[in-house]
Amino acid sequence: MWDLDGELSELRAAGLERRSRALEPLDAVTLRTPDGNALLAFCSNDYLGLSHAPEVVAAFRAGVDRSGVGSGAAHLVTGHRPEHEALEAELADWLGCDRALLFSTGYMANLGVIAALLGRGDLVLQDRLNHASLLDAGLLSGARMQRYRHADAAHLADCMQRAARRRLVVTDGVFSMDGDVAPLVDLLETARGNEGVLMVDDAHGLGVLGDQGRGSLAEAGLGQCDVPLLVGTLGKAFGTAGAFVAGPDQWIELVLQKARTAIYTTASPPAVAAATRAALALIRDDDGRRQHLHALIRRFRDGADALGLRLMPSRTAIQPVVVGDAGAAVAASRALERRGLLVTAIRPPTVPRGSARLRITLSAAHGEAQVDRLLDGLAAIRPMLEAE
Ligand code: PMP
Repeated sequence: MWDLDGELSELRAAGLERRSRALEPLDAVTLRTPDGNALLAFCSNDYLGLSHAPEVVAAFRAGVDRSGVGSGAAHLVTGHRPEHEALEAELADWLGCDRALLFSTGYMANLGVIAALLGRGDLVLQDRLNHASLLDAGLLSGARMQRYRHADAAHLADCMQRAARRRLVVTDGVFSMDGDVAPLVDLLETARGNEGVLMVDDAHGLGVLGDQGRGSLAEAGLGQCDVPLLVGTLGKAFGTAGAFVAGPDQWIELVLQKARTAIYTTASPPAVAAATRAALALIRDDDGRRQHLHALIRRFRDGADALGLRLMPSRTAIQPVVVGDAGAAVAASRALERRGLLVTAIRPPTVPRGSARLRITLSAAHGEAQVDRLLDGLAAIRPMLEAE
């Protein structure tokens, strides 16, 4: 029976109903609500503020003038443009690997890559806190899926003992809801020691961590040759949209031949690739934005410490404050909004039950005074932030 009313009421009663609002950007960190209130936002993934960087915006405009607004077909049909080709080459060059392959979103990249490489008889091992797209990909692939304890290489080693044709270990580089960095060296050693291969989704590390923003692998001292499958998304630090997988030639070739989410979908607009090339140039060559972001992260953590707030062990742009109960997290978010601050509450099933949180994110587009405003807001609602 289709009891839609009942299902929706249940979500509402549990405080888990979701709703989007049309928020108009006034700049990279200020959004205007439909009621006309300007809110200072601390919840976007535009970690370097590149969505509004003049160089990136100009490249997007020029890309539209050159190539129109849509690609008109899938890459393997007639939708592949010189902008896509150049972006793939520049991403590969930046990361020091043979090749990169574009996807239209990160969700599709993860579904496509994992389902292309695994099937029945294979084993996919995933960190419990991996992004939903990775977990969904594991299910879609038909492989046996086992989730290991968060960031726990010893537990991973246990889980890998099961007989299997192929073993793929999959982890977020930076965990999207906690902001901590995966223990990549340990995971790699464990994967290799148990006839496995490691895949890293560094959606939140690229641009933010490592020399030239090359992400959590670079920061851990690992090269592309160590990890044959690196997924990056372009809608976060790059400020645009889309995703890619990068790695050695044969791995990428096999993904290109088999990934259904690349084969059976329209290539993203070439102007997006043009804008992403400009964003990549800034990520690579402009360390100033990254340094400013990290100075803001330290400022926020010091200030939150002084307020006695319990933060997670994160040195990335993601700095969540766990509240516990879903309703309490929503109430805290609303209280901040009344003070002109936008910080979304993240609730189950996105995060484990009992760990609803304010997912605070910082951006290089913020100024110090704006971070102080956030800290003042958190101080004002301090009693609402006691985790249970
Ligand atoms: N991987 C991770 C770790 C993510 O956090 C996200 C998005 N939040 C994705 C993949 C999906 O990327 P996209 O938004 O481009 O679909």
